[in-house]
Amino acid sequence: MGDFLLSLSKNKTARKLVEGIGLPIPMPEPLRRAKGAWEERPLEGRVILIGAVAASALGTVIAETLTRAGASPRLDGALFSEAFRAPGEAYGRPALPFEREGKERLDAIVFDATGLATIGDLALLYEFFHGAVGRIARCGRVVVLARPPSGDAVEASIRASLDGFVRALGKEVGRKGATVNLLVVEPQAARHVPGPLAFLLSSRSAFVSGQPVHIGDLAAGAESGEWVRALERKVVLLTGAARGIGERTARVLAAEGAHVVCVDRPGDEAELGALAREISGTPLAVDVTDAAAPERLVRELKERFGHVDVVVHNAGITRDKTLGRMSKEQWDQVLGVNLAAIHTLTAALLPLVLGHGRIICLSSIAGIAGNMGQTNYATSKAGVIGFVRALAKETAERGVTVNAVAPGFIETRLTAAIPVPIREAGRRLCSLGQGGQPEDVAQLIAFLATPAAQGITGQVIRVCGQSLVGA
Ligand code: NAD
Repeated sequence: MGDFLLSLSKNKTARKLVEGIGLPIPMPEPLRRAKGAWEERPLEGRVILIGAVAASALGTVIAETLTRAGASPRLDGALFSEAFRAPGEAYGRPALPFEREGKERLDAIVFDATGLATIGDLALLYEFFHGAVGRIARCGRVVVLARPPSGDAVEASIRASLDGFVRALGKEVGRKGATVNLLVVEPQAARHVPGPLAFLLSSRSAFVSGQPVHIGDLAAGAESGEWVRALERKVVLLTGAARGIGERTARVLAAEGAHVVCVDRPGDEAELGALAREISGTPLAVDVTDAAAPERLVRELKERFGHVDVVVHNAGITRDKTLGRMSKEQWDQVLGVNLAAIHTLTAALLPLVLGHGRIICLSSIAGIAGNMGQTNYATSKAGVIGFVRALAKETAERGVTVNAVAPGFIETRLTAAIPVPIREAGRRLCSLGQGGQPEDVAQLIAFLATPAAQGITGQVIRVCGQSLVGA
């Protein structure tokens, strides 16, 4: 069953009526989502306010990223005017001063807080956002850039405080469909900032909010300049491709140029074959828990392509029951598909993964927070998190990144099976007040697969509309 409140919200007259007479009915903002493949200028014409505290270090990379992406920058004060001068001229996007007393809507706000060091600096954070936040447009974006907590206790505390600021602001602007995220940038990792910054400011991150994303240089390699067709000639192995998140992911990856080897259970051949034909991929009917699966996948990849660039472990199942009522079979099935298969397939496939390759695993917010009736599922999804954190260190030298994506409530067959009251709660208990679409998860997976995400490894990124579960 679709989301009734979201449909109501899309009708302008109904929305005005509900809001006008102050009915206590939440009206989630219909999210703006990007269509088609990545554009050369994903932020074309977006008005973006940029601010910073003194001694902030990322002015140059912010200026280059925003102007290259087609944004119309507004500067609060003189702090970054020098950084914006050359790229503004090169891309015909001069930065204009921000009119504090004006009325112009802001599509996004970027705040470089890397210079934040003292308790007094936190007042600057207040002053900058206090007057600007009310001007954020519907489905707007806020990105705060920070340094990881380090140094003495006071400095570490000041840096860590941004985490709370971002999460709280996300809850305030979420009802407008706006998102707020934190990019935590290691001092040597500025070159990896452009891709994640552009992604979080774009309409491709519609359901990612309240997230700290760590950018480092653990995985060897430079950031590629390419955003458009960034997966050209890449071979991707994607499990669970027949439907839901997997099917959408296959399409998004193919749109960026990837050849997708679409894996799903025997029995789903018809869906798999049709999908693979549409996206010019390769269908492979393999049960990932089959003892012969690793050898079969390795053989197919070796014979057809000789290697693989990206592996996406998306196949997953639920068998919900409270622990006392759960059969051993239900426990084993969930652990088998969601975790054991990831271990065995990754071990078999890693030698085929090229340098700067990608391993991307599907976790879940249930793996972070736990969930009633899901001891098996939460165990498996928490196991995935431990796996990516440890494996990322092992593969870093080859430049292979390993990450997990943790969806919240996404509208698929899996969530359509949930009883209505729990389903309604799942949808509403997040800052954006609605469920996400498979497209939202697909966009994050595809972004992590691109060279522009080289600075992100060993991470768990939630795509959950800032769900209150496990927040
Ligand atoms: P879905 O049921 O719509 O699709 C899952 C796919 O995996 C199906 O096509 C299924 O046939 C395939 N699959 C299952 N067992 C397999 C096996 N043994 N071998 C090969 N393929 C197998 O589910 P979805 O909602 O698209 O979920 C995709 C992933 O995202 C899963 O890992 C799930 O746990 C995770 N996830 C989903 C949500 C959500 O709200 N939908 C939330 C958190 C996490």
